Parts: sequence; C-alpha cells; structure tokens
Amino acid sequence: MKIPEIFGENVFNDGVMRSTLPSEVYKSLRKTIDDGKTIDMTIADSVANAMKDWALSKGATHYTHWFQPLTNLTAEKHDNFIEPVGGDAVIMQLTGKSLIVGEPDASSFPSGGSRATERARGYTAWDPTSPAFVKEGTLYIPTIFVSYTGETLDKKAPLLKSMTAIDREAKKLLKLFGIEANKVSTTVGPEQEYFLVDEEVFNKRQDLVLTGRTLFGAPAPRGQELEDHYFGSLKPRVAAFMKDLDETLWRYGILSKSKHNEAAPAQHELAPIFTTTNVAVDTNQLTMELMKKVAAKHRLACLLHEKPFAYINGSGKHNNWSLSTTGLNLLDPGDKPEENKLFMLILACVIKAADKYQGLLRACVASASNDHRLGGGEAPPAIISIYLGDEVGALVDSIVLGKNYVPHKSVKGSIGVPESPIFPIDSTDRNRTSPFAFTGNKFEFRMLGSSASVADPNIVLNTIVAEAFADATEKLEKAIKTQDFDEAVKGYTEKLLKKHYRIIFNYNGYGPEWEEEAARRGLLNHKNTAEAVAECFKKENIDVFVRQGVYTKNEAVARAKIQLENYVKTVRIEALTAADMAIKQIYPAVNNYVAELCRNLTAKKAAFASLPYAAEEALIKDLSTANEHLLSCANSLKAKAAEIVKEETEASLFTAHVVVPAMAELRKYADEAERLCSKEYWPFPNYYELLYSVK
Ligand code: ADP
Ligand code: MG
Repeated sequence: MKIPEIFGENVFNDGVMRSTLPSEVYKSLRKTIDDGKTIDMTIADSVANAMKDWALSKGATHYTHWFQPLTNLTAEKHDNFIEPVGGDAVIMQLTGKSLIVGEPDASSFPSGGSRATERARGYTAWDPTSPAFVKEGTLYIPTIFVSYTGETLDKKAPLLKSMTAIDREAKKLLKLFGIEANKVSTTVGPEQEYFLVDEEVFNKRQDLVLTGRTLFGAPAPRGQELEDHYFGSLKPRVAAFMKDLDETLWRYGILSKSKHNEAAPAQHELAPIFTTTNVAVDTNQLTMELMKKVAAKHRLACLLHEKPFAYINGSGKHNNWSLSTTGLNLLDPGDKPEENKLFMLILACVIKAADKYQGLLRACVASASNDHRLGGGEAPPAIISIYLGDEVGALVDSIVLGKNYVPHKSVKGSIGVPESPIFPIDSTDRNRTSPFAFTGNKFEFRMLGSSASVADPNIVLNTIVAEAFADATEKLEKAIKTQDFDEAVKGYTEKLLKKHYRIIFNYNGYGPEWEEEAARRGLLNHKNTAEAVAECFKKENIDVFVRQGVYTKNEAVARAKIQLENYVKTVRIEALTAADMAIKQIYPAVNNYVAELCRNLTAKKAAFASLPYAAEEALIKDLSTANEHLLSCANSLKAKAAEIVKEETEASLFTAHVVVPAMAELRKYADEAERLCSKEYWPFPNYYELLYSVK
C-alpha cells in the first residue's frame, strides 16, 4: 500500500473537485471555502451532480446530511439517490436543493426549551467549508442544523459564527497595523486520548456498557506508579489496531500523525496534524467514531470516557489553538518578541479574554464525566490559568513588574556525547499542569475531555478573543488620534497585561497551594458541572456571545440548560446502573461467598473445635458488614435518583451535592467487599482483568 495513493480516497477533496467540476464552478466554490463568500446558489446543481457521480464511483447508494446536535455525537439520516423516471426505470440523482438543505425532524434532539415540542421542523444546511466523504456506502455531507425559527440546534453553526467573529475582529485590528488580511482563521490540532480493553471483558461489565466507565472497582495491585507505560513499546494487538486505524483515517484524509502509549495502563493517544477549526472538529468526530469501529474489528473496546477507571489517569483532548492569516501565525513571537508589538498585543488580548471569561472557559468543558478530571484531584485543575513559558513569561514579568528583561539567547543544545548532533533548544519548557499553556506559537487548552466535541471550547475561545480584539481596536482607534501609534499600542498592551496578570501562573498547578493562591487572586474554582455551568447564565457571559453574533440570548440560555440536563441525566443513569449492579450482582455474590465461609467454618469447628478461627471470623464479619451497607446504600441511591426534580438548575445542584456523593458512598462498600471477596465469586471482571486484558 502506498500512502499517498490511499490518502483522502474517500473524500470529495480539492483534487476531486478540481477534476470533476467545470472550472467556473470550481472557482466559485473555492471562493466560498477560502474567503468565506456566500455560496452562489446557481452552482449547486452542478456541484451536487459531480458529488453524486463521484460517490457512485465509490460504491455509494445513499447520501446523508451529517450534523452535530447538542450531544457529543453526530447524527445522520440516509436517503438513497434513486429517482423513478416513469415505467420501471430509475436514475441516480442528487439535486442542488438536496445538497443544500435537508429537513430532518428536530423534535427528538435537545433544544433546551428554545423550541416548543410540537414545532418539530428543523433544517440542515450544507457546510461547503468541510469536505464531503463516502463511508460505508453513503455520501456524508457536513451540515449545520437550525430550527424552523432559525435558532441553532447544533455545535457547528455557532462554531462557524465564532470563526466569522474572530476573522472580522482580527482583520480590523490588523488593519491598524497596516496589514490587509484576506482571512484570519483559527487552527486546531486536537490530541485524542483513549483506553483499549478486550471486548469480551468489556461486555461483562454492565457499567462500562451502559455508562462508559467503571462505577466500581478496587485498584489493581499495579497501577501507573512505575511510569513504564508512557511511551512504552506497543503490545502486538495495540500496534495492529493503531496501524489499521491510521490507514483508515488516512483514507478519510485525516492527518493522523503520532500515536503512543499514555501514562495509565491500557491508555493511548493519537495526535493529528492541525487544520482549520471547522475541519478539525468534523475530523475529530469522525476519528472518535472510527476508533470505536476499528477497535471492534480487533475485538477491542475503545473507551473515550474521561475517567473509565478510578485511581489512574483519565483521558483528555488537548486543544492546540492558533490564529493565522496567509503566511503569518499571529501567535508566533518571532526571534525578538520584545520588539514584536503585534504579537505582544495579541498575546495580551488572549490573556485578557481568558481572565475576563474564565467562567465560560471552565463551563464549556464541564460534564459529568469531566468532573472526575477537573477538580477531581487530577490534571489539569479546575482553575483557569495561563502558563507562558520562560521567554514570553519573563517578558511579561518585565512589563508588569518593571523587572529587567534579558532577551533569551537562542541556545544550541548538545547531550554531551561527541557523536550526537547539536540541536536548537526550544524557548519554552513544557508545563504539563497548566490548563492553558502557551507552547511556542499556539495555546494548548488542556481542560477538554476526551469524549467531548472539539467545537465547544473553540466556540468560546474564538468568541472571547474576538471580543478582546474588538475592544482593542476601539481603544486604539481613539488613542492614535492623540498619540503616536507605537506608543498607543505599547501603552494599551501594558495596561491589559497589568490588569489581567493574576491569570498567569507558571508553577505547579496540581498542589493545594495553588488552590489557596488562586483564591487569593480571586480566580474561579468550580469543582463540578452544576456550579461551572451556572456561570453561563450571567449577563456578561451571555452578552459577549450576543455582541459577537455567535448566540442570541435565547440560544445561550438554551445551551446552558441542555448542558445541565445532560449532566443530570448522565449521573442518573450512572446512579441507577450502580444501584442495579449492587443489588443484583454484588450483593448476592458476596452473600453466597459468606454463606460458604459460614458452612465451612461450622464444619471445621465441629471437627476441630480448638483450632484458631479469628481471621476467618473477622472476614465473615467484615464482608457481611460491607454487604449490608452496600445494600442499604444502593436502596437509598435508587431513591435519591428518583427524587431528581425537573428544573435544570435545581436538579443539577441536587445531583452534584446529593446523588454524586451517594454514589461514592456505595462504591466505598462495593470496593471494600471486592478486596475481601473470593475471585471465584466476584460477579464481573476486576481492574486487573480490565487493564491488562490486551496482550
Ligand atoms: P504535545 O504532546 O507536546 O502537546 P503533540 O505533537 O502530541 O505535542 O501535539 C501537538 C499538536 O499541536 C498537534 O496536533 C499539532 O498539529 C498541533 N499544532 C501545531 N502547530 C499548531 C498551530 N499553529 N495551530 C494549531 N495546532 C497546532
Ligand atoms: Mg499536548
């Protein structure tokens, strides 16, 4: 197999468009894709026909408008190309209209009250900026999803609007610097973490099947303490899976670049090469889907949940984010950042945005599953802060604190062995604990969970940075009426850095000291989804979306409600699953084991009355006690889950403060029983069998 030959073979990409579309049509479509020009409706029939012919040549019989409702998944409804033309004859057809709009029933998708239930109509509209592709006999057309009344019901429409906002505001700002940009786009490279578990073992765990994570499980004798899994050599089944996955992704034009073992046993990572945000979001959705499908082919289960196992690392999705215009990365400090006024201003704007809208950044990654990472004693913490690295950090310190700035000399490194090469050393070290780290020419937002859509954090990042740009342009336009331009920029940058300096933190973000320090600085520290999402209802956090044209007020409120609803529903499913497993699987198993112990003990005592039995008796007592508590906790958890009330805010707080702790209490007794129970009696695979199941 030659990779360049298979790369993108399933995608209606630029090469295919160029060779199948009339040249005028191709040029017009490119203008839409590259410069954001509104699509010319007269070319729709021609594009649709070329797409259909190409799809037929790939064996497709159906097409679907592929969209991203307010879940973390994608949705699709397949229609075939068949069109009867009289008599018995049919032709295969895709009209321009069918390419451009679809009309799925919207009533069963979350709308957060933005749409009355009886108003079921929804529309999907083609997004030409993300390429169509053929998968499993269907042509997939990426689309946005809106209601009859025009409210967005998906993640893509606001994402595109946020990209428009940052493009518009960045261009205005660049214009002040004499730069006429055609388009400013954001780029994203999402690193995807996941776990692999043997399918047979996976299927024996009701919690994994129903909730994606283990609700019970005593730690295996060996976790990640030896630090030998990270970057370790790949086991044969894992290597075969990764090879198959890479090939599959390449066929869909997805630039899967690196793969490696992660810190926890059975944990791995895949990183693609970055692309424009919209495409990065779509391809990440497709990547997650294909990971599961390719895993199934290898009789593996791919777990994308943020915290499938307690006691070891969870999975995230690092969102590498940058901003560029043709040939210029706006987050590249260059050789002399101290003289790069544009870079320093843009940096200051990002810092301001992150500080001012920390509530939104925290809220956009909040979910039941991500609560186990953020604020759950695991990286990164729930507090938003920015790590700038040594060079830029020192420069900002010098501006804010009036310290002397010594420019960072570009150093050549050597490992001190004569045969080894001399290599340039990066100007910043890494800080793995920071939720939002400047990494040379991009920001890495590390709070996103592994199963979440990449759209959410980018909608927020693009919007809040666009707002900071808009403010900067307005202030600078005023200032340069009375001031020298350079002085005005310098003065404004300095003002922003001083005002928002509290968000910068260059040290260990894991320790309890940081929580105390962050509290002194007045930074937010929301530990669960209920509290984090409450930020979204604040006026200033709604206004910014409205001003930047990303959400209407109704849409912003509806989305926050849906997020809370999802949180409550997820936890309720977990609570019911946990109670079910405890009552129907764990309790009877432990009871049987205790009965056997008792029978044996009675028999032994009858035969040898004088032998010591203290440990055995203690085991019976401990197991019986744990099992009794388990049963009573399970009953009470079930009752609490049933108490969850309707209204989102109240239900989410009840969930966070009553249901989640009740689940933890139940788990305590289950794990205690597991530690004591015979392996033979335990009703499902334990952590050792799950984490070391793939050879
Ligand atoms: P690390 O593990 O050190 O964070 P990786 O190489 O695994 O590094 O991932 C870095 C990610 O950042 C890749 O997906 C890469 O494509 C992406 N990236 C690099 N440059 C940019 C950029 N300008 N904009 C967005 N993403 C970028
Ligand atoms: Mg990373």
